[in-house]
Amino acid sequence: MSDRLPPIPEYQFLPEHPSPGIQVELLPGDELPPRPRPRRRLSRLAIGLIAGIGGAAVIAAGVVAGLILFPPAPPPEEQLALGPFEVPETNPSFQPRELFDRQAHSIDDAKSVWVVVNKHRPLDPKEYVPELTAVSLPGYQGQMRPEAAEALREMFAAFSSEVGGQLSVVSPYRSYLDQVGVYNGWVSRLGQAQADRQSARPGFSEHQTGLSVDINTATDQGFGDTAAGRWLARYSWRYGFIVRYPEGKESVTGYFYEPWHFRYVGVDLATEMHDQGITTLEEFFDLEDAPTYP
Ligand SMILES: [Zn+2]
Repeated sequence: MSDRLPPIPEYQFLPEHPSPGIQVELLPGDELPPRPRPRRRLSRLAIGLIAGIGGAAVIAAGVVAGLILFPPAPPPEEQLALGPFEVPETNPSFQPRELFDRQAHSIDDAKSVWVVVNKHRPLDPKEYVPELTAVSLPGYQGQMRPEAAEALREMFAAFSSEVGGQLSVVSPYRSYLDQVGVYNGWVSRLGQAQADRQSARPGFSEHQTGLSVDINTATDQGFGDTAAGRWLARYSWRYGFIVRYPEGKESVTGYFYEPWHFRYVGVDLATEMHDQGITTLEEFFDLEDAPTYP
């Protein structure tokens, strides 16, 4: 530096663009005062950062201390149970169906189209005789309750037009005395234990309601694999019938698989059972299993 230079403030206070009042005269050999070096800026930055981190640490320590001294109240129990992100599931396409009335008909009254008869539920009275009409079908004359006989005619006609050929009635209504003969015949052939698995004791037979019918056979389980057996299992609900003793439900109904035995329960109930996928009356009406006689 030269003595001849006018006094100037420390370089660090030198404005970037000196005002006209301050004349900076440069002489040979002189250099522009060095620009403030970045190191200083960095150091200021570092000081700021350190101060900031220190402050944050102090604040964090304060928060931790606060949490220890004053822990937040636990959430209410219902919030714990539901969880913060659970919302009730809704299906926008869901259309609530009309609730099925399970009380619409009696399951105890022998005259009811919904009457449930099994090894725990005999007909009342045991010698009950329903209103009957002739089942006028090709090759067979028997009797059933009028609504069941009419539905059976419709179902047989539908089978003939959709599949071809004709179904045949093997056994419709059987009276109490008929059942005495049938049951005793099975007992003499198979013994009582085996007879009870496939034939009802008198007073416990669905055939006595006038609502049941054996179609095409009364003994051949292979019927379930025939075109007729498959069609009936699939579509009989449309006419108000159910396969009353489905496969795998012997512990519920008390009878092994009888693909030929159809029970008229009316279209409403048959449709509801079909839609719900419930195959036995015992399960549909929440009744106890009836595997054996009490
Ligand atoms: Zn039967």
